[in-house]
Amino acid sequence: MSQNRTELGDLGEFRLIDKLTSEFRLQNSSSELGVGDDAAVIGVSEHTVQLISTDMLVEGVHFNLMYVPLKHLGYKAVAVNVSDICAMNGKAEQITVSIAVSNRFPVEALEELYSGIQAACQAYGVDLVGGDTTSSVSGLIISITAIGSARKSEVVYRSRAKEMDLLVVSGDLGGAYMGLQVLEREKEVFTANPDIQPDLEGHDYIVQRQLKPEARIDIIRFLKELEVLPTSMIDISDGLASEILHLCKASNTGCFVYDEKIPIDATTSMAAIDFNLDPVTCALNGGEDYELLFTIDQSDFEKIKGNPHMTVIGHMTHPSDGKYFIDKNGSAIPLRAQGWDHFD
Ligand code: ADP
Ligand code: MG
Repeated sequence: MSQNRTELGDLGEFRLIDKLTSEFRLQNSSSELGVGDDAAVIGVSEHTVQLISTDMLVEGVHFNLMYVPLKHLGYKAVAVNVSDICAMNGKAEQITVSIAVSNRFPVEALEELYSGIQAACQAYGVDLVGGDTTSSVSGLIISITAIGSARKSEVVYRSRAKEMDLLVVSGDLGGAYMGLQVLEREKEVFTANPDIQPDLEGHDYIVQRQLKPEARIDIIRFLKELEVLPTSMIDISDGLASEILHLCKASNTGCFVYDEKIPIDATTSMAAIDFNLDPVTCALNGGEDYELLFTIDQSDFEKIKGNPHMTVIGHMTHPSDGKYFIDKNGSAIPLRAQGWDHFD
């Protein structure tokens, strides 16, 4: 170790991963893709690959048990991993679940967590095949690894978008972030006065988006049925802006993204306005929607046109054209990621 001390916050999550892993060289021909995409790609036979992705959820960082029911937490922990397999255009088949838990939790609490894990296994057709259990000094940590499969020719990487490809997003955005704002507000109210019951009236949709996000296995199926093979794909865990920039960087493209095209549910917009936030900013920078963001060749546009589950929000450009967000007045603003950074 050198004498210098660099603070984690100075680097940020992605530069830290780069710094730690850039000197590693893949040594096995079966390791088709290592670090840098939503899942690693491992060759298993001539025409099939295995996809592997890991995500960790830490109490106090990723969830607050004051308002996150353990059953939902278990479900979400599986869903976010299945989502990463979807982002490679694969089918999740197995998970392993590792937990570190303090003696603050009774057995019944962990059973509740596992009932959520089981519900997600059922919903996504995945099998729990192992894991690890250990103690922690404080709090709960859940790490899940998902293993999926795909035909080699159908794996979709972040890196193969081309100039003029259309940028498409599934579902609607910003809801999970607004759900979090509502839950945080009610937590503050409750902390100040425990006699006041939380008021989540009218916020069912956004609260559900935060507490029980779904991996879009249905979108992967629709794309297959429509015979659309995206040229690149990523799932939206950190916020639309950050994920678009990941696709642009990996594919070496620029992009134009149009404000008025970004799909936002009416309840998300109303909640945002209620909080004095701009709904589009919430969609761009709020995280955890777990929708899929992908690019398609222009020739596939007719196949997805009018599809209620998919919205074209822009297109890729030559890298020298830059990465821009076009606002409602037609002004081009450089696209910036202001999403989650766990070291801030
Ligand atoms: P996602 O948001 O899709 O889960 P991440 O942003 O967590 O992806 O990770 C980006 C890439 O970096 C992935 O390929 C992941 O496997 C890899 N990665 C993240 N953390 C580490 C680490 N500590 N060591 C090695 N690889 C890592
Ligand atoms: Mg991902």
